[in-house]
Amino acid sequence: MEERMRFGVITAAHQAEVHERPLPPLGDDQVLLRMETCNICTTDYGLWTGARKNQPMPMAGGHENAGVIIKKGKNAGSHLNIGDRVGLVAYENCGQCRECRLGHTLGCTNIEDDWVQSEDGYWGDFGFANYYVADARNVIKFHSDIPFEEIGFLENLSTVMHGIRMLDIKPFETVVVIGAGTMGLLNAMAARAYGAEVLVTEVDEKKIARAKEEGFPVIHPGEAGYQEQIRESFNGRALNSIIVAAGVTPANRQALELAQMDTKILFFAAGYPAPDLPVGSNEIHYKRLRLMGTFGAELSDIQIAADLLDSGRVKVSGLIEAHYPLDDIQKAYEAASTPGAYRVAVHMWKDEEESLCTLR
Ligand SMILES: [Zn+2]
Ligand SMILES: [Zn+2]
Repeated sequence: MEERMRFGVITAAHQAEVHERPLPPLGDDQVLLRMETCNICTTDYGLWTGARKNQPMPMAGGHENAGVIIKKGKNAGSHLNIGDRVGLVAYENCGQCRECRLGHTLGCTNIEDDWVQSEDGYWGDFGFANYYVADARNVIKFHSDIPFEEIGFLENLSTVMHGIRMLDIKPFETVVVIGAGTMGLLNAMAARAYGAEVLVTEVDEKKIARAKEEGFPVIHPGEAGYQEQIRESFNGRALNSIIVAAGVTPANRQALELAQMDTKILFFAAGYPAPDLPVGSNEIHYKRLRLMGTFGAELSDIQIAADLLDSGRVKVSGLIEAHYPLDDIQKAYEAASTPGAYRVAVHMWKDEEESLCTLR
């Protein structure tokens, strides 16, 4: 009997469906995963709402997924075992080119940046699938019993780690994170895990409450004297880093208002439509500002993100808004694209399906 996989696919704006296709054969260097969950990323629902036009359709997207190894190819690493819980390396690399050997796997010269279309016409990485054939080198093993939907934060936390390492955050440094959405709070949590004192600015009531719940001081940037409040809450110390985790012009403006001498500003978020950055080069020059951007993650960032999740030093359970079965992927997209929503987790199996899984 031919084994098949079921997966979520966006076929048009506001339209997500569940399709089926044959499961690809398992190569010698690969593992077969029974996938458990995939969280809906901003990139995914941006395509679903029609806001992001930079991706082709039908898009079998999803990349915040997690599962269990159920079969190993004969050359798949000896450190991997049947039953291991794993996340996936979302930023592939060859491991052999010059950039990879220098540790700069994001700069890998052997990996296509462009979307690749499968022979049966789909784009994307089939993240919302119930089975997944992965290269053994691209799975990251977890040792603790954290839930799969939390392992699903491996990709986004790894992109956060790339930024934290660019900012070179050290213990007792001061950090302001602008925006308390999923990515803002992940940035805040990672900076805190690295020993920084972190303050969050946010305008939305629900997100303010969430940020406080996660233990962060929150300041509303609309309040008179908010800059003064921030200075006071850091006891007058210099502001070392600002992370802009909201892709809108007012967030950029706020970062420039808050920047002091020698502050580093990291532009973490993309925005659609593209936000403006109203700054003159004299200001950058005289304040010795360091403006930087980040997108993606090195292999080393991914491993550190896994360690942060696995050790519980970054706890993401409060960033999961809702759960839906794969069959309700349309509803899951509706929930994920509701303004102010945190992550929505899609579960690949219903409990009663468990016994029908012939590949186990
Ligand atoms: Zn993502
Ligand atoms: Zn490479």
